[in-house]
Amino acid sequence: MIPVIVHGAEGRMGRLITEMVEASDDLQLVGLVTEVGRGRSPGEFHPRLPLTPQDRLADVLEPGVVVIDFTSSAALDGLLDGAAAADASLVIGTTGHDEEQLRRLRDYAAAHPVVMASNFSVGIPVLRLLLEKLAEILPPGFMPAQVETHHRHKLDLPSGTARTLAHAWEDRRGEGTVPTHSLRLGGVTGEHTWIFSDDEETLVLTHRAHSRRAFLRGLPSAVRYAAAAGPGLATMEDVLAAGERSETG
Ligand code: NAD
Repeated sequence: MIPVIVHGAEGRMGRLITEMVEASDDLQLVGLVTEVGRGRSPGEFHPRLPLTPQDRLADVLEPGVVVIDFTSSAALDGLLDGAAAADASLVIGTTGHDEEQLRRLRDYAAAHPVVMASNFSVGIPVLRLLLEKLAEILPPGFMPAQVETHHRHKLDLPSGTARTLAHAWEDRRGEGTVPTHSLRLGGVTGEHTWIFSDDEETLVLTHRAHSRRAFLRGLPSAVRYAAAAGPGLATMEDVLAAGERSETG
């Protein structure tokens, strides 16, 4: 069994991740972590486990543990300080980190396994691969634009997924920055639409998450990868490639 801590356990994603880990055959929930000052005893938030404040993260760490983080970018420093105490592996779903925070994450990953993805659904990694292919085959003259829509509580803008997809296109196409338009509307879980137009025609690709459960789909394999990997900062593409190698090998 792989011991797992959910960092951000009170959040919209954290609650779903907790359920997912508890329903898994090979993951064992050993800790639930929240913001400083919000700790609770067993039975108050979870029937068996305490809700541990971030500054007591070290209390729930154990050898071989993987910490799944879905919080806010501001929580990163406390997470890295705590996780380092037990050389914990990390799976980071939080988005919106700035350059300095990403540098700290890369430093941590130089000595520990870290998987980081702005989107753990099945469809978004496929959309990313499609965009890389389209960047090679769409004739010159097709203008791209991206529209991303999320619920009104989402903090980062544009979304982490929109940034990841834009970089995938821009790196392959080499025609500069893709215009990205962000909408924050009601309870929309997450939509990313790419539109390509020239004077004669339009091509549209949309990924739509029906619920937050879509973002749980890649997590178990990311956790297994982080538990087995050596130090380094891996993406969901690395996780998927490792799965394909083990199926064919
Ligand atoms: P949320 O606001 O519902 O939950 C965030 C939780 O983090 C809150 O419960 C808060 O108490 C907790 N938190 C804040 N600071 C903390 C700290 N210092 N220590 C411990 N806990 C802390 O948000 P959400 O909708 O669950 O999303 C969380 C993050 O995950 C966001 O960055 C979001 O963009 C990202 N996200 C990523 C994916 C993906 O597939 N990678 C999918 C959905 C959301």
